[in-house]
Amino acid sequence: MLCTNGHSNPDTSEVCSRCGVDTFQAAPAISTSMPAAPPIYVQATNAGKVSGFAIASLVLGIVWIYGITSVLAIIFAVLARKQVANEGRTGGGMAIAGLVLGIIGVVGAILLFIFAAVAVNHIQHMTGFTGFSG
Ligand SMILES: [Zn+2]
Repeated sequence: MLCTNGHSNPDTSEVCSRCGVDTFQAAPAISTSMPAAPPIYVQATNAGKVSGFAIASLVLGIVWIYGITSVLAIIFAVLARKQVANEGRTGGGMAIAGLVLGIIGVVGAILLFIFAAVAVNHIQHMTGFTGFSG
């Protein structure tokens, strides 16, 4: 803004930094009537959008890969549910599907490894083969 002697000063100035007067020219209307954007707008941009974590959770739950991605699917499902609750995002159903698939995937992987261990043990008993080290 300008002081009554025409010097330019920051808007927060109480006295002119050049001549020291405490009187200022009326600021142009456009600079004073500009409302600050309310912070709710920032939050509203994410509301209603599908949570990326929910999509990632569902995809990883389907991919499986010996239960490795299933663990990530469970983690992403938890993160997605937080986004849905806190930011108003959609995708809660996908997050639940990803969570269920993730749990099934982890349990399936554990069962597979148990089955494989039993099968190997069985083969060793039937054939007497105990591996190259034994
Ligand atoms: Zn001045």
